[in-house]
Amino acid sequence: MQNVAILGATGSIGGSTLDVIARHPQRFRATVLSAHRQVEALAALCAQHRPELAVIADPALEGELARRLRAAGVRCEVASGHDALAAAAASPLCDTVVAAIVGAAGLDSTLAAAGAGKRLLLANKESIVMAGPLLLQAMEAGGGVLIPVDSEHNAIFQCLPGGRPHLGRSGVRKLILTASGGPFRGRSREQLGAISPEQACKHPNWVMGRKISVDSATLMNKGLEVIEAHHLFGAPADAIEVLVHPQSLVHSMVEYVDGSVLAQLGNPDMRTAIAHALAWPERVEAGVPALNLAACAPLQFEPPDLATFRCLALAFQALRAGGDAPAILNAANEVAVEAFLAGALPFLSIADVVEAVLAELPAQPVVDVPTLGQRDRLAREAARRVLRNAC
Ligand code: NAD
Ligand code: MG
Repeated sequence: MQNVAILGATGSIGGSTLDVIARHPQRFRATVLSAHRQVEALAALCAQHRPELAVIADPALEGELARRLRAAGVRCEVASGHDALAAAAASPLCDTVVAAIVGAAGLDSTLAAAGAGKRLLLANKESIVMAGPLLLQAMEAGGGVLIPVDSEHNAIFQCLPGGRPHLGRSGVRKLILTASGGPFRGRSREQLGAISPEQACKHPNWVMGRKISVDSATLMNKGLEVIEAHHLFGAPADAIEVLVHPQSLVHSMVEYVDGSVLAQLGNPDMRTAIAHALAWPERVEAGVPALNLAACAPLQFEPPDLATFRCLALAFQALRAGGDAPAILNAANEVAVEAFLAGALPFLSIADVVEAVLAELPAQPVVDVPTLGQRDRLAREAARRVLRNAC
């Protein structure tokens, strides 16, 4: 029996993970569930999945969670606060941790799972973007395995021989990350001036949380994924290519020196990647309908429009700058996306905020988590200042 902690259980990835787990009660058990503030949704998931521990990140809601669980006749431990997430990730209650919290808030629990030697199913891409070298060191020290859940990285993982090879030694020439292009593919900058949060969150192929939906619309999501691929697979920036593929059926590809290109295909449903990561190296049924290529629209591929979708170019810039530039990029982007979702920043200005903050805080080496935390705070302050001056 595999005991699974799902951090971010009330989210989109959390829900898909619980769906896969529920299909295999003999094999997987959800032993830890967490949420930020959605106390009602968390209590309902606990009533359904009967974990050993429920963690609510906002301490003010612990009493309410306990009350709701008692009223529903659910007997499980209750904890609260940011530190309780990391403690749960490292606890003996789980051997597998699904890191499905959104944003930098997921960093500490992801690192804790890595350091404790858990099987780490990484959806929270922001944590590897911020702290790539530290996360890989923690994985090495803990001795667990990291299996990417992000569909592109999961696809690449499946197309590489045996886990995390060094590209030079495995005959790999290039990693090709596919991108749907988001809801605004093909539009010019002039056409993106008055985009609303609702329009940005309406993704053509995937149903996701609001932050990643906006990132998909700006192509920052692909930028974060380029950085994620760099760390996960040891690929230099020049060996990572982004290719727009609007049908989202080819989830990514690996090009080898002999001219072979291996691709992983499937319907756009995160349960495939989650089931793969949960069961690896075995395979389990995920509830995803079989791909019917004969009935699909023709597969198209085109280069990304970096002049319109500047966030992708900024992410490549941060990766090339190295050090903590990706963490600065991520922090500025989180602040800008929040402001956009609140109606306080135009869509196209997200890239302006990120660019200004990257210029204000030149890269420094990644030393340790506290220093990174400080730089993350500095970048958020700088982003808020840029926002105030822009409005
Ligand atoms: P979501 O917004 O649907 O869910 C986020 C979860 O994190 C919720 O359970 C929420 O309660 C929790 N959370 C939010 N802020 C928190 C905080 N401060 N402290 C503790 N918990 C907090 O997001 P999602 O779409 O499920 O994405 C989760 C992560 O997975 C993101 O990093 C995203 O980039 C990545 N990802 C998502 C998808 C997808 O299809 N949704 C695909 C690939 C990668
Ligand atoms: Mg992805």
